[in-house]
Amino acid sequence: MKISFQSSLPRARRAEIARAVSGLLPGCRLSAAAGGLSAALSRPEKFADAAPAIENLPGVLAVTFADAELCPRACAPGKKSFSSPLPFGRGPVFIAGPCAVEDGLSYLASAAALKAAGAHALRAAIFKPRSSPYAFQGLGWPGLRIIAAAKRLTGLPLVTEATDPRQVGRLAAVCDVLQIGARNMRSYELLKEAAGSGRAVLLKRAMRSTLREWLLSAEYLLAHGAKKIVLCERGDAYPAGRGPLLDFKIMAAARKLSGLPVLADPSHAARSREKAAELAAQALRAGADGLLLEASAEPLAARVDGRQTVDLKTFRAIAGTPCKNRR
Ligand code: PEP
Ligand code: MN
Repeated sequence: MKISFQSSLPRARRAEIARAVSGLLPGCRLSAAAGGLSAALSRPEKFADAAPAIENLPGVLAVTFADAELCPRACAPGKKSFSSPLPFGRGPVFIAGPCAVEDGLSYLASAAALKAAGAHALRAAIFKPRSSPYAFQGLGWPGLRIIAAAKRLTGLPLVTEATDPRQVGRLAAVCDVLQIGARNMRSYELLKEAAGSGRAVLLKRAMRSTLREWLLSAEYLLAHGAKKIVLCERGDAYPAGRGPLLDFKIMAAARKLSGLPVLADPSHAARSREKAAELAAQALRAGADGLLLEASAEPLAARVDGRQTVDLKTFRAIAGTPCKNRR
């Protein structure tokens, strides 16, 4: 942590600040740094609580952190990839399925066909966060039997979004990966509950959130017991035709800093199946560890996000795309 002083601060005041910092951060090692002080701690998470008090000391201009101090567990070195239930380490991982589970027969037919086309896991959304309260909100609990049947039929792991902490226990009994959607990246009670479920957690980056906010949400998961985390970039919701679609730079930075596997969701950024296929290929070329992709046997019949859902032929082509990541 770097503590910057206001300019021309008297020597005596500098010494007082140093004493106050030592009191606020017992055990920290203080050293002089250009324009202020540098503080090091063996448990950098302690900085989070002390920083506002240090910033409030008269004469202090600013307090700044290194990444590893902001997200100590998320940014700690060490291999954080995993091979089960998502098979990282053998090439890109494809999680595919319709946006929402809509009815049993069509979901099962898509699940079987997607497995044959190269899917490693199924999108299995039964709770849908929708912008309009009048739009289809997912099948809810009746959908659980359908996704459980798809798992029995295909043997593929289920990736399911939890939108409320109260859903977590019942979903975790059946599903293999709990998805935290973009809208809920900052739902800290949901993060804590999902972290304690014992299941792997897929954490999407919220629209227009920063790398720091994304990794701090991963930090919540790690601090509350999650052992397997996968990040997923879904892009920022800009008006059609404007702004970046997927942020490959933020994906690379997240992967480098955290060591966590990072997927791309080309579907929600693209809003059309042609663009989704193009973005999928770009994401794999940019080093994504895999894709979370809306794909189904009958995209034209989909009630939700059909326009951006790719068909089986396109999915087969995407799943065959070579990629540079092999972890
Ligand atoms: C989804 O993947 O089903 C979804 C709702 O996406 P997002 O959270 O990125 O909007
Ligand atoms: Mn969707």
